[in-house]
Amino acid sequence: MKPVAFDYVAATTVEEAVNALREPGAKVLAGGQSLVPLMNFRLSRPSRLVDINGVASMAHIEVRERELILGALVRHQQLVEDPEIRRSLPVLSRAAQHIGHWAIRTRGTLGGSVAHADPAAELPALLVALGATIAVVGPEGTRELTAEAFFEGFYTTALAPSELVTQVKLPLPQGAVGFKEVVRRPGDFALAGAYVERLGSGGAVTWFGFGDRPRRFSVREWPSDPEDRRHVWVELVRNVPVEERDQYKYELAVAVAEESYRDAGGEE
Ligand SMILES: Cc1cc2nc3c(=O)[nH]c(=O)nc-3n(C[C@H](O)[C@H](O)[C@H](O)COP(=O)(O)OP(=O)(O)OC[C@H]3O[C@@H](n4cnc5c(N)ncnc54)[C@H](O)[C@@H]3O)c2cc1C
Repeated sequence: MKPVAFDYVAATTVEEAVNALREPGAKVLAGGQSLVPLMNFRLSRPSRLVDINGVASMAHIEVRERELILGALVRHQQLVEDPEIRRSLPVLSRAAQHIGHWAIRTRGTLGGSVAHADPAAELPALLVALGATIAVVGPEGTRELTAEAFFEGFYTTALAPSELVTQVKLPLPQGAVGFKEVVRRPGDFALAGAYVERLGSGGAVTWFGFGDRPRRFSVREWPSDPEDRRHVWVELVRNVPVEERDQYKYELAVAVAEESYRDAGGEE
């Protein structure tokens, strides 16, 4: 199928993009990897596409001592390949490597993944796991939201229709962060995935791929016995509401959490 007719605006600055988004029914076009298929199936019918690919000020990668600042237009493949990102936050490069296939990763953007808010997406979950903040700009100005507040539910965020995600600030973790996901075939969205941060004797687990959004839970102390840890995973994961057909994912979630814990160097 083909999309319905739409108006096209190529923005070169954030201000131009925000102005063009004032039109009712307007939508941002970033990498187009989620939006264009939806338009072709006519599940999305924007009246106007505001193409932000020419907004150079949103493509920055800045590594600071304690945080990583990434423009919304940073492509997934840049997250995989950039030497500074690989050095300062290797789990980000590793997770991005699991997004679709190379062709998708060279177009898809961080801001697009964040705004699309697929509950099975790797990047939104990592943002929640690390306590990232997301900067958005709209007609009323700029605001910053924590990732936890930004992701409200199934493909639902705190973003208003005329707002633009401009950048993400990721605090560099103090502990080791492990990552594991289960997919049917390489390149598919995760059936279930987990990030585990290990800091001292405790840390946190963040699950994605089931439930309506990524969910993070703090753990004061990891039990050293794997069987006792299993009880911790089972107890925590029950706090993630899932539909009946996804109940089997609780078992997957327990398994990926344990593997992620081990990936973080937590094997006793
Ligand atoms: C076959 C296939 C497999 C895939 N597998 C995975 C996977 O395993 N994991 C994964 O995470 N993703 C996967 N994706 C999705 C891919 O990562 C997309 O790149 C991503 O979801 C959206 O990014 P985009 O830049 O392409 O956004 P677009 O498709 O351009 O936009 C997506 C949505 O976000 C909005 N938007 C985009 N940028 C902004 C912005 N800066 N501010 C406000 N709104 C914005 C758009 O208006 C639209 O509603 C897959 C896609 C395909 C086609």
